[in-house]
Amino acid sequence: MKTYLAGRALPQFQKRLLTWFRAHQRDLPWRSSRDPYRIWVAEIMLQQTRIAAVMPYYDRFLERFPTVDSLAAAPQQEVLKLWSGLGYYSRARNLHSAAKQIVAEHAGKFPRTLEAALELPGIGVYTAAAVLSIAYDVPLAVLDGNVARVLARLHAMRGDLRVPRTWRALTETAERLLARRAASDWNQALMELGEVICTPKSPRCLVCPVVQSCRAFAEGISGEIPAPRKKRAPVAMTIAAVILLDSKDRTLLVRDPGAHDEVLFSRMWQFPAIQVSREAKPELEKYFGETFALKKLTLEELPSARHGVTFRNITLLPFVARVAELPAVPRSRILALKRLGSVPVSSATKKLAAAVVGASSKA
Ligand code: SF4
Repeated sequence: MKTYLAGRALPQFQKRLLTWFRAHQRDLPWRSSRDPYRIWVAEIMLQQTRIAAVMPYYDRFLERFPTVDSLAAAPQQEVLKLWSGLGYYSRARNLHSAAKQIVAEHAGKFPRTLEAALELPGIGVYTAAAVLSIAYDVPLAVLDGNVARVLARLHAMRGDLRVPRTWRALTETAERLLARRAASDWNQALMELGEVICTPKSPRCLVCPVVQSCRAFAEGISGEIPAPRKKRAPVAMTIAAVILLDSKDRTLLVRDPGAHDEVLFSRMWQFPAIQVSREAKPELEKYFGETFALKKLTLEELPSARHGVTFRNITLLPFVARVAELPAVPRSRILALKRLGSVPVSSATKKLAAAVVGASSKA
């Protein structure tokens, strides 16, 4: 593999890919400037999230926080609110912390070295290399799932690409192939090829700009690379949540669940909830009695909802309970249910709230 795409073949290969990218690249909002802040925000949003899903969030986020300084100065709640619905909220928290660090330690400019970039919260080798190369043309190769698939097909590498030995070989290959004098375009070209031509299923080899250099195409095995990864077995779980309502239709939101997997509500404001092992109602009554000193709750069950988070298949069981007075508990807030959209909440919480709204509109 080391000798493949070497010697005179390498500059020819690089030229073909760069020429194609420069002529055909998609017009994406984060490509409109070389501002490292805009590129960094895009890279963080695009982690585990499709481009189409990111677009509206990206525009709104940049409109509200056009610079590192404006992001650093914002309250975390506002940052999370703009992220609300995009998922994986630790990304937003880290982005916010990193912005503060950049203002405090780098005079508001994204650092220019790999070492300094890696000191920032939420920035790993891939993100650092992507931002530094795309914004500043620092000659660092990037390797994510897309790029790995392209490189593996070009070299006809079989098997699971995430096996450490294979990933190391791919890292070396990415560094060796890097067009060092055009790192920005080069890295984006490889990513673009993986996203629009050399796609996971049904690669479009007949219109591929580097088909002449592709071993997988020559051997007729493009569709077999990479080998499918073994998926983690799905885990089914049931989460019961209670939407407490007082006479003014105000509800209680909490921050510290303590009674279920915290991934579900992403440590954002949520309705009190528990993971149910057998029967929801008695388990909820016990929990509310012990935790909120609320006895004799009349729980009205609402239609359940499905929710998926990575390998978890979750059934959400919403209950509504009318109370004379909402309990005063630490790390909580009380607000009108109709104002739920004014605070950062996860999509699971939105589904639970929608159940209440749906039930009251039918009543
Ligand atoms: Fe991918 Fe096909 Fe191009 Fe090879 S020829 S890089 S498999 S799209």
